[in-house]
Amino acid sequence: MTKQQVRDQLNRPLRDIRISVIDRCNFRCQYCMPAELFGPDFTFLPRSELLSYEEIHRLASIFISLGVEKIRLTGGEPLMRKDLHILINMLSKIEGLKDIALTTNGVMLPKHAEQLKAAGLKRVNISLDSLNDELFGEINGRNVGVGPVLKGIEAAKKAGLGIKINMVVKKGLNDTEVIPMAKFCKENDLELRYIEFMDVGSTNGWKMDDVVTKKQIYEMLKEHFEFEPVEAAYYGEVAKRYRYKGTNTDVGFITSVSESFCSTCTRARLSANGQIFTCLFNGNGHDIKEFMRSGVSDKEIEQRIKDIWNHRQDRYSDERTEETRKARKKIEMSYIGG
Ligand code: SAM
Ligand code: SF4
Ligand code: SF4
Repeated sequence: MTKQQVRDQLNRPLRDIRISVIDRCNFRCQYCMPAELFGPDFTFLPRSELLSYEEIHRLASIFISLGVEKIRLTGGEPLMRKDLHILINMLSKIEGLKDIALTTNGVMLPKHAEQLKAAGLKRVNISLDSLNDELFGEINGRNVGVGPVLKGIEAAKKAGLGIKINMVVKKGLNDTEVIPMAKFCKENDLELRYIEFMDVGSTNGWKMDDVVTKKQIYEMLKEHFEFEPVEAAYYGEVAKRYRYKGTNTDVGFITSVSESFCSTCTRARLSANGQIFTCLFNGNGHDIKEFMRSGVSDKEIEQRIKDIWNHRQDRYSDERTEETRKARKKIEMSYIGG
């Protein structure tokens, strides 16, 4: 397949897409879908508003023809979408796609890991913010202990999926877990990625004071471990990685707040209700679902996506100040999936 290479206003190519397949979740993480706001009366998207698997496949094929090489499925909790393996199977057959990954809280992996792998899934990022049952239950807002996530990690390992662990670090909440999580992941040869708490959406009460920066986490780790830096594996790699000396195990940092990486951001996002977002912090989505449902051709959809990417100027993290933060209308994480 000959691919086109679309570029945005800052000359960034379109290389990856994150697709949120559902806005629902079985957790209520404080920093993402706080239980007080996402309560029993909260209205989630009706099924008809979600993109169907056929629609996702159609859009993904067009994105791939425009230069996308990697797809990540996310949510809400993507494994709450029925028969996700069917979508993965459909996507994995598209020519030109190099990688397909999933971000999940892991709880449903024991049931699905084998099937997902057989369908063509290569890698999972499993979110785990603490190894302490009580604290983890408090963070996930559903009193779920660590056990079900550990079982999910085991199941992913057994199925032969590549695994990374995502840990969001929030000051005063789980910074005490930085070292226990590092020890656990090192012992189990799991790549841990510390994620700086981000000001996504407008419901998580974000304050700069709550962010534990990469530098601060690295200082904590250096008291216990020796590291060597690892070269970026490809253009636009988001994580800054280090390796525990004398091992093959890496640890990474997602430094969206303290060291922005907008200049190499090659990522588009497709929300559960079929809008394209060109930045995690840009609340103005571009409808693609209704456009597609109006009966347009693939060529017309392709042109619409090209136009959206060509006009892109986003570099929110580069420009983040108290003023830009307050002025910006932002999309919730559960719609767009991180
Ligand atoms: N439910 C799945 C999960 O938790 O892995 C996938 C969706 S979740 C929105 C994707 C990732 O975003 C998770 O690793 C989660 O920890 C992270 N995340 C959510 N809210 C965040 C925030 N405010 N700052 C940083 N990361 C956040
Ligand atoms: Fe759900 Fe993931 Fe958000 Fe937690 S971070 S509430 S598991 S979508
Ligand atoms: Fe990309 Fe927006 Fe994040 Fe910058 S702030 S790295 S443009 S998603």
